[in-house]
Amino acid sequence: MDTRLSAEDLAFQTEVRQFLHQAWDKELAAKCNNRATMKAGVEEWQRRLYHKGWMAPHWPVEYGGTHWSVTQSFIYNSERAAVGAPEAVAFGVTMVASVIIAYGNDEQKAKFLPRILKSEDWWCQGYSEPGAGSDLASLKTRAERDGDEYVINGSKIWTTYAQYADWIFCLVRTDSSGRKQEGISFLLIDMKSPGITVRPINTIDGFHHLNEVFFDNVRVPIENRIGEEGKGWTYAKSLLVHERLSIAEVADSRRALGELRELARQEVNGGRSLLDDPLFARRLTNIEIDLMALEFTELRALAAIEEGKPPGPESSLLKLQGTEIQQAIQELRMDVAGYYSGTLQGDLSASQLGHEFADYAQKMYFRGRASSIYGGSNEVQKNITAKYVLGL
Ligand SMILES: Cc1cc2nc3c(=O)[nH]c(=O)nc-3n(C[C@H](O)[C@H](O)[C@H](O)COP(=O)(O)OP(=O)(O)OC[C@H]3O[C@@H](n4cnc5c(N)ncnc54)[C@H](O)[C@@H]3O)c2cc1C
Repeated sequence: MDTRLSAEDLAFQTEVRQFLHQAWDKELAAKCNNRATMKAGVEEWQRRLYHKGWMAPHWPVEYGGTHWSVTQSFIYNSERAAVGAPEAVAFGVTMVASVIIAYGNDEQKAKFLPRILKSEDWWCQGYSEPGAGSDLASLKTRAERDGDEYVINGSKIWTTYAQYADWIFCLVRTDSSGRKQEGISFLLIDMKSPGITVRPINTIDGFHHLNEVFFDNVRVPIENRIGEEGKGWTYAKSLLVHERLSIAEVADSRRALGELRELARQEVNGGRSLLDDPLFARRLTNIEIDLMALEFTELRALAAIEEGKPPGPESSLLKLQGTEIQQAIQELRMDVAGYYSGTLQGDLSASQLGHEFADYAQKMYFRGRASSIYGGSNEVQKNITAKYVLGL
């Protein structure tokens, strides 16, 4: 494909830059990056996107999408990442919305999509269970019919942002008699339902993202089931493809690498800049080359989507390579921070690096360990790639 920008694309780029200049500022960035105000900050950012009409660019236009071309999506994403603005939280707008649009009925679309667009509901994902991660189809949370309701019993684990969520999309077992992939159903559950308990799991980065969610005789109307009973596995897999695409975060890695290059230029070791150290320069350049290759893979995936082909198993490649690059950047950032990255209280007088940078390097390094696990572990993505992309 030709990635040179046309006059129309250049005009779009100017519009994006103007919007970001007005809509993304230091105050909002600080709000989004502070754990106490993160949810409010992200919702405020998403509302600004909504008012511009850009909250859900990838949705069909009839539901609020933008019908951007591949190049426009690329431009928007690059410019967004360049100023450090986050993507909209994926659980609603990218993940459950993709399933509601593809498999939901008209009532479900009318009820849930506008609220996602306006950030009126915060969603979380109830897939994993203590005995069902990579082997997701082994899930045991039961949903038993009682009149026009399901009664849910069981538990979910690693549920990101369940503490904030208004709704959870859940895989539940409605039948145990056949193959384990059959008998799974896809339910939308109101987190305020009696019988739901959320318990936090603290992680090594010091943040509270993760939770266990327990269901004790939780009653869910049958009208909250997406599609057919027992066909949830098909819907669940289509959602995972969208999830994996969003995890690759190519444009954000581009920004992180640019910042890393600048930090390395400033950091002096043995009387010379780290950038003049051939070993360091080689590591940095290798990541830049890998990222450039991934950008083209992402563009190919976007071009296929624009032609109406749903994203397929190639999204596993993007997830795998994207998260390996994220981790390589995080490791190199720790090396730039040097021994300051090992402490949050060090004496920084001898360093050109600030306290905040070393702290940030450490947090991102610890948080980043998880990216090769969530959305399906990278080992599992290699299996999918071998089977469905390479046909081995
Ligand atoms: C930060 C974070 C956020 C998450 N958020 C959510 C969320 O919001 N909602 C949700 O439902 N889940 C979430 N998860 C769960 C995530 O999807 C699972 O952790 C992941 O699928 C792996 O499952 P597991 O942890 O049970 O590991 P296991 O499946 O037990 O795997 C353990 C190890 O064995 C390897 N392995 C397993 N099977 C194979 C195989 N067939 N071939 C090769 N290697 C294999 C794995 O790669 C891994 O290294 C999150 C996880 C993390 C870390």
